[in-house]
Amino acid sequence: MRIAVLGAGISGVTSAWYLARDGHDVTVIDRQPGPGLETSFANGAQISVSHPEPWANPWAPRLILRWLGREDAPLLFRPRADPAQWRWALGFLRECLPARTRRNTDAIANLAMYSLASLRTLREESGIDYTRSSSGILQTFFTQSDWLRAEHSARLLRSYGIEARTCSAARCVEIEPALANCGDSLHGGIHAPQDETGDAHEFVMQLAEHCRSAGVHFCFDHTIEGLEVENGNVARVRLRTGSERRGELDADAYVIALGSYSALLANAIGERLPIYPVKGYSVTLDLADDAIAPRVSITDESRRIVCSRLGNRLRIAGTAELNGFDTEVNQVRCEAILARARQLFPDLGDTASPTFWAGLRPATPSNVPIIGRARHPNLWFNTGHGTLGWTLGCGSARALASMIGGMTPDVAFPFRQP
Ligand SMILES: Cc1cc2nc3c(=O)[nH]c(=O)nc-3n(C[C@H](O)[C@H](O)[C@H](O)COP(=O)(O)OP(=O)(O)OC[C@H]3O[C@@H](n4cnc5c(N)ncnc54)[C@H](O)[C@@H]3O)c2cc1C
Repeated sequence: MRIAVLGAGISGVTSAWYLARDGHDVTVIDRQPGPGLETSFANGAQISVSHPEPWANPWAPRLILRWLGREDAPLLFRPRADPAQWRWALGFLRECLPARTRRNTDAIANLAMYSLASLRTLREESGIDYTRSSSGILQTFFTQSDWLRAEHSARLLRSYGIEARTCSAARCVEIEPALANCGDSLHGGIHAPQDETGDAHEFVMQLAEHCRSAGVHFCFDHTIEGLEVENGNVARVRLRTGSERRGELDADAYVIALGSYSALLANAIGERLPIYPVKGYSVTLDLADDAIAPRVSITDESRRIVCSRLGNRLRIAGTAELNGFDTEVNQVRCEAILARARQLFPDLGDTASPTFWAGLRPATPSNVPIIGRARHPNLWFNTGHGTLGWTLGCGSARALASMIGGMTPDVAFPFRQP
């Protein structure tokens, strides 16, 4: 089958890989000059199977109220005259109900484990190297109330078969000695040894090369302007290159993997996708030889930031801002992330030239991605991965390829049905 994959981020390139492997003739279209240049560019680098609980949980509304109006808040709602934003926010509140949180956590946990296994196989088969580390993730708790929930969280993770152990503050420092002088009182942590880290952008670039060798065709610098429908099916995509030149591309099937922009394209042909951009930031530091920086990836639960070592770089990422499609880098929020990193690791040394970055998480209110078939029979979705697109990337794409091939994916997940 001729398949057009729309978008060359993690979701699009992994989709192309699995579809090409199944023998399809695949073309990937993206407006950027190369793969992985938008949200998949400088994320937190964590393959965090141990973090299936979505932001929408019973504790979230109270926290969001507490943070309202604070410019350095981990989660910031900037109200706009945008019905999509309000619809999303109401949907988010609904997903905070305990039964919904549990259902969403189940779905994400299953897909995350399937995805980690898929990533490991893909890595072995392709030999892709993306500054990976398999030293696990340590979630750290700096407030008593967060720490009180830790044992419950670890038990829940173990119930899914995810290795997770609570550990004392002293044990946390044994696991990651760079935490020895953290300027806050560490109450304890959860260590998930099977989690991994790696540079998502390097992964996407290398996988795109493997796709090319497998016959996938990439159309970069092509903006998708819309989908045209004929007789109930998508007939073609309308494209623009540069400011003037226009064109079209037709295929037998189409996969929407456009990150936060997926909803704009899908809504125009009557396919409602509850995806809204949730902006986040990252700060990347080049480490001096004498820097004392973590080797185990850290999730600071209390501030909602993650720190991942990528060779001689340290990536610190986090915060969430509901502010439309604005991608401007907010200095105050990046400085707050950097200040927190310095507090956690006071011996980081010179942090004079950090690289600040902002990206838009393609978030559904539940954080459960949208994978499966649209109402138009030849249109498919692999999008809406929110905070976990790198963690869920390989599994989502592999499952999608199975469905397009007429098979049932071997993972329990609420796949989209028309
Ligand atoms: C600060 C931050 C930290 C994060 N940390 C982690 C983490 O540690 N672990 C984790 O698992 N996930 C993390 N994530 C989430 C993860 O990065 C995303 O879920 C993932 O990158 C989404 O990938 P995607 O392919 O769906 O979207 P994208 O990477 O945004 O790809 C979409 C592609 O579509 C293209 N496109 C869009 N519109 C058009 C158009 N009209 N025409 C042509 N092309 C178009 C874009 O150019 C882009 O290349 C983080 C996100 C952020 C922002």
